[in-house]
Amino acid sequence: MFADLHLHTHFSDGTFSPEEVVARGRRAGFAALALTDHDTVEGCARMAVACQAAGIEFIVGSELTAEHKDTELHILGYFLDVTDQKLLTELARFQVVRQSRIREMVARLNELDVPLDADEVFALANCSSPGRPHVARALVQAELCSSLDEAFELYLKKNRPAWVPKFKMSALEAIELVHQAGGLAVMAHPGLNHADELIPDLVAAGLDGLECFHTKHSKRVARHYFEMAEKLNLLVTGGSDCHGKSKGRPLIGTVKLGYAHVEKLKTAWKERHPPVASPAPLPAGGERPG
Ligand SMILES: [Zn+2]
Ligand SMILES: [Zn+2]
Repeated sequence: MFADLHLHTHFSDGTFSPEEVVARGRRAGFAALALTDHDTVEGCARMAVACQAAGIEFIVGSELTAEHKDTELHILGYFLDVTDQKLLTELARFQVVRQSRIREMVARLNELDVPLDADEVFALANCSSPGRPHVARALVQAELCSSLDEAFELYLKKNRPAWVPKFKMSALEAIELVHQAGGLAVMAHPGLNHADELIPDLVAAGLDGLECFHTKHSKRVARHYFEMAEKLNLLVTGGSDCHGKSKGRPLIGTVKLGYAHVEKLKTAWKERHPPVASPAPLPAGGERPG
């Protein structure tokens, strides 16, 4: 039994619907899936329904964009309470920030005589967590660039003329936000950050796990983080980071996390949330007053 705990849909920058992700997950034989769209939990309700119909266990998640000591980090939250007001307020704030960033990138493109309209980007993104990939797709769709790569190379990559820095919450705040919403906080794809020296700070802030298995982690890198997780007594997660067709071929099915790790996640979550104590048993023959 296997799981994929890192998936995106069109509720952020993936191209698949939750239903398509689940259909593909089923074909790949997964026992459990988690949805981790960027800075939103909006797709989770639909994904839960689709998973239930397919007989797949579903784990609510989100991938929060954060930073620590000037390094961008992504914090995965699992088992989040999607009705938690603070979480929803923070995510809504993120979405406003994302939308104003799109407007600013489009304004810079317009200054460069690239006649893109922000509404074209929003229409194409059709989600509340728009990002650079949507701007790139809109540029290609409007035939202002010939490919997504060209859009990034000419305009959108860091320090290119239409790039706008992204506001991020601190990684320590992200961990706290996940915890107060009842979730477990996991550092996504640490192998892409090349910032192992930051991990102790995250652990001190209560980080619960490391995403050891990821599409872009080689076997050697996966082993490195697996050993680190053991040493630091952290949970182990893994996932494909599938974005549908927006980043080449769909990746779902390429990373298979052993289900034993899902069991450990669930155990950790349950330990954090003990069932509400039932009233003390009555002595034999006793009666409750009243
Ligand atoms: Zn990420
Ligand atoms: Zn991701």
